[in-house]
Amino acid sequence: MGDIILFPGLNIECSKFTPEALNRFRSIPKHIMEQMLESVFCPVCGNGTTIIAFSGIMKDDDLILNGKCKNCWGKVERLIDGQEEKSISSTS
Ligand SMILES: [Zn+2]
Repeated sequence: MGDIILFPGLNIECSKFTPEALNRFRSIPKHIMEQMLESVFCPVCGNGTTIIAFSGIMKDDDLILNGKCKNCWGKVERLIDGQEEKSISSTS
């Protein structure tokens, strides 16, 4: 139920996020988040992939996304930390 975050190609259900994780997710500019979601390592594919159907939690200062590989539907995890966010925004 409730809100959905619209993203190119995917709808993210806010109910799958903890409130803290949702705040963090929303604070990251979409073009940066998009790059992060598209650069996830899948151990099954042995390759970079896009994370889909994910939920979000905070662990210490990091946002952790638990979801699935777009290609094989295997479980993948993406850790989003503030440092990476800064490095992407300074190069684009
Ligand atoms: Zn995969």
